[in-house]
Amino acid sequence: MQELRQQAWALQEENEELRAQLYQECYQTPPGRGLASLRMLYGEGYHICPPYFARPLARGMGCLICLALLNQAAEEAQRGGNLR
Ligand SMILES: [Zn+2]
Repeated sequence: MQELRQQAWALQEENEELRAQLYQECYQTPPGRGLASLRMLYGEGYHICPPYFARPLARGMGCLICLALLNQAAEEAQRGGNLR
């Protein structure tokens, strides 16, 4: 039992690291590229908003924060002229 808990904890730790990496990739690339990654992630059913980043979306439900972020990112990309 103890061991299982430790394993779960290690996994969680690893997930956090992966999430942090992905987050950086999505948010610290040029606007056009980051947006594409965010759209893809959201399209695959994962949150892209900071509080729930890379956690699965509730089935059949969107996330208003995610959508607002996507809109914002799209606007920024357009302004930057990086949209394909
Ligand atoms: Zn979200």
